[in-house]
Amino acid sequence: MTDIIKILPSDVSNKIAAGEVVQRPSSVLKELIENSIDANSTRIQIIIKDAGKNLIQVIDNGKGMSRNDMHLSFIKHATSKINKIEDIFSISSMGFRGEALAAIASVSMVEMESIIDNQNGRFIEINGGELLSEKDSNIQEGTSIKIKNIFYNVPARRNFLKSDFVELRHILDVFHRLAISHPEIEFSFINNEEEIFYLKEESLNKRIISIFGEKIRENLIPINESTQIANISGFVLKPEFSKKSRSNQFVFVNNRFIKSQFISHSISASFEGLLKDGYHPGYFLFIEIDPTKIDVNVHPNKTEIKFDDDQNLYSIINSLVKHCLGIYQVSPVLDFDKDPSMDISYDQVKSQPTNPTIEINSEFNPFKVFNGEEVSKIINDDMAPSNELNFEDDNNQALKIFQILNKFIVSTNKSSLIIINQNLAHRRILYESFLKSIFENSENSQKLVFPIELSLTKKQLLLYNKIIDEFKSIGFEISLKNELMLIESIPFGIEKNNVEEVIENILNEEFNVSNDFSTADFFAKRLSKITSIKSGQKLNIDEQEYIVNHLFSCKEPNLSPDNKQIFITLNKNDIENKFNG
Ligand code: ADP
Ligand code: MG
Repeated sequence: MTDIIKILPSDVSNKIAAGEVVQRPSSVLKELIENSIDANSTRIQIIIKDAGKNLIQVIDNGKGMSRNDMHLSFIKHATSKINKIEDIFSISSMGFRGEALAAIASVSMVEMESIIDNQNGRFIEINGGELLSEKDSNIQEGTSIKIKNIFYNVPARRNFLKSDFVELRHILDVFHRLAISHPEIEFSFINNEEEIFYLKEESLNKRIISIFGEKIRENLIPINESTQIANISGFVLKPEFSKKSRSNQFVFVNNRFIKSQFISHSISASFEGLLKDGYHPGYFLFIEIDPTKIDVNVHPNKTEIKFDDDQNLYSIINSLVKHCLGIYQVSPVLDFDKDPSMDISYDQVKSQPTNPTIEINSEFNPFKVFNGEEVSKIINDDMAPSNELNFEDDNNQALKIFQILNKFIVSTNKSSLIIINQNLAHRRILYESFLKSIFENSENSQKLVFPIELSLTKKQLLLYNKIIDEFKSIGFEISLKNELMLIESIPFGIEKNNVEEVIENILNEEFNVSNDFSTADFFAKRLSKITSIKSGQKLNIDEQEYIVNHLFSCKEPNLSPDNKQIFITLNKNDIENKFNG
């Protein structure tokens, strides 16, 4: 038999490896910024065009490279950061596998300039991993890397990139994580020629405020504790500042952003009883731990991590956060400017922390939405699924509707027993009504007497600008004053109280205009999901009737907007079979 095994040429293997490191523009940005940080830069400038699809440039004032290293850096496993195998187990530097640049270069057009040995500048140009040209450059300090036309030579992957809205969101996520973990570095972030962020060197709490806006200032509760296992510091956000999304959750281990379910769980558990249903706490938690006690390499993107001693860490974090929340309840005013140390020792408060309480919005009533309509119509058999059998012997004419488990509405028609999932049913009702108002372009907007003011984070503002037209088409009338959003009209079917949540939710959602579904459909789905009544909510009889009546007036009462079955029916046969079976 002839030999069939071949060693892949390095350009091919690099392209394959690229899939692991370079998933999208944001992953390139992450590698480049991490390299700049490793090069001891104190100032990093980021320039993005078209959500990174056409340009990602990172300019730093770091130590630069040697002429040879400039070439070598594009070869797989070329790294200046590992000398021996043990080094792999320490994560003091950000990258440590020496394949990021090689992978990036194999799928894009790269221009790199660097100050060589602290003297002369040098420029090289690499396309798809091949050196194209090389010359002197007049760069004065550090290194500048331009990544152009990502995936230009892998069309399948280029086509796979999502809308600018989605890619930019990922880019901003990456930027936020690195900027938060490096407040000592000055950052500038330029998107399509506009400087979106200028962050000077500052303290952690100031950095968080610079990124998330003034509003977050008074919601930061400091946390700072050294234990045998780990040092834990950072901030948790007051329960009032919790969100429907997890967008304010940041955990860093040895100053690197990570995702860890058990850490999130341990913090969330500390907030138990303090959050409204479906709300998530916010936090910026820094865990410093002996690098040999963790395994960071469980995931190629290095955001997942394993701890040797996870059970102890779980309880330490849990009780620390609880304690902080308790202390904040005892002394709720934290003024960072007066007390820059912000240290509150674990022992300082001897008494048991009291459980803080927060307001629950008991007034929320999703049915107010249609307050113009009468809810007295009795279920009509024509609307309910028909069945040849009937319960006509039943001479009790009164409609029987009741709720079970705070989750289902039970009703009957002449022939069957119907069990309706209240949440899915309400979503269907709202979804069709939103779609109707969008497509019929009917009066789908209600003017607010007092406009709602929302202060947006810069990230939200950027994302909003990408879907302004869609917001208009569903009936929002919004004007912007710097970072302040002024909402003058809102679509029918949304309550004033819900507006903030609706907007945040949409801006945090994976949103891809190039999907098969229309934007209208996306918005109608999102809005119906947010504003619908939920499982677990007790409904009075009017509300139950409202659901039943309106569900069976829908065009498609069987399925929820995301295709889940809304109700089940049991007819006479079904019931009798249960007894005979
Ligand atoms: P790693 O960071 O894992 O070593 P990379 O492929 O990201 O691998 O980078 C390869 C090498 O290129 C680095 O080890 C470093 O020596 C050099 N390098 C990359 N970016 C910079 C930069 N901005 N400044 C100085 N050196 C850099
Ligand atoms: Mg690197």
